[in-house]
Amino acid sequence: MTLSERWNTVMMANYGTPPIALDHGRGVRVWDVEGNEYLDFVAGIAVTSLGHAHPAIVDAVSSQVAKLAHTSNLYIHEPGVRLAERLLELLGRSGRVFFANSGAEANECALKLARKHGRANGGRVRVVSCEGSFHGRTIGALSVTGNAPKRAPFEPLPGPVTFVDYGDVDALAAAVDDDTAAVFVEPTLGEGGVVPAPAGYLAEVRRICDATGALMVLDEVQSGIGRTGHWFASTAEGVQPDVITLAKGLGGGLPIGACIGFGAAGEVLVPGDHGSTFGGNPVSCAAALAVLTTIADEHLLDNVKVVGERLADGLRAIDHELITESRGSGLWRALALSTPKAGEVEAAARRRGLLVNAVKPDVIRLAPPLVLSADEVDQAVPRLAGAVGEVGGT
Ligand SMILES: *Cc1c(COP(=O)(O)O)cnc(C)c1O
Repeated sequence: MTLSERWNTVMMANYGTPPIALDHGRGVRVWDVEGNEYLDFVAGIAVTSLGHAHPAIVDAVSSQVAKLAHTSNLYIHEPGVRLAERLLELLGRSGRVFFANSGAEANECALKLARKHGRANGGRVRVVSCEGSFHGRTIGALSVTGNAPKRAPFEPLPGPVTFVDYGDVDALAAAVDDDTAAVFVEPTLGEGGVVPAPAGYLAEVRRICDATGALMVLDEVQSGIGRTGHWFASTAEGVQPDVITLAKGLGGGLPIGACIGFGAAGEVLVPGDHGSTFGGNPVSCAAALAVLTTIADEHLLDNVKVVGERLADGLRAIDHELITESRGSGLWRALALSTPKAGEVEAAARRRGLLVNAVKPDVIRLAPPLVLSADEVDQAVPRLAGAVGEVGGT
């Protein structure tokens, strides 16, 4: 039996059957089990921020696992405290951190915190979120995810939740009132197709939350940790949420999420309210510290800006009627297609040695490692152009 047949025999069908099996990686390159080489512009869905097998992560993880792999949160460990300190320093604010294992769990913490805070402040329970948003797959995170077909099979979900059109300030202002516990928002819709918010939207969200007393929960699970060329998308805009959630790129491939509460939002959870056996595991924290140190030491935020512009230029230069829009920021880009052929483009690119992701039937997402070089951009763009030509030409 092939690996793929074995997968189909023992794995649940929720992922479909992935097209290839990966074996190893180095930098921006990965190799499948048959020895084919790819430029990895997916990066484990915006996760492997330093690329594959970066020595800083290999060293940090190896030495931490050899020293102390796991403690539970019954005990303190230095990498966890240091990581929380470092994140708050980068955010430039004082606050309190809860470590989880994933983005969904970081948002679960935010939901519990918002519920408790709202109940104590006039019995507010409603959450307002955006159509097209994605906050995770657990029942709680799914309840605030703006994708009705994804929610439907799992109803009833926790609530009440009101969904408003993303970027529509008037709709948000109309939906948020003194029954609203929190507004959940992404700086750019990630799974929604890398759709940036209109300029000034986050500041308006902040203003509406301030006017009504709702907590502003900013989901930077995908946008955070350098993806846009800034440590956080929100700090670039000067917007200060009450709660920020992080995950994906934070651990550079090791599982970790964080829910950070500022001001009163950081004081809501008290002993016994919440927890996780694995959350903030010392190995994941060591990896995350290596990610943050390397982004600073190797000036990767500048790299993301410069190489990201080169990628954007390359994408815009792919002149084909199948492409209706090229959008995004930093190393977080999307091509919108005129027909739902993103899956075909993804497959054609893969055959040409480039991994990209059909994030929606008509949208191709690129989220390469932050260590991407100009050379690698110049190799990838013609492969994608070739794939678009092949698919669009038939
Ligand atoms: C991926 C993602 C999540 C969920 O993260 P998981 O680690 O898959 O649970 C939540 N919010 C956003 C914005 C995401 O992109």
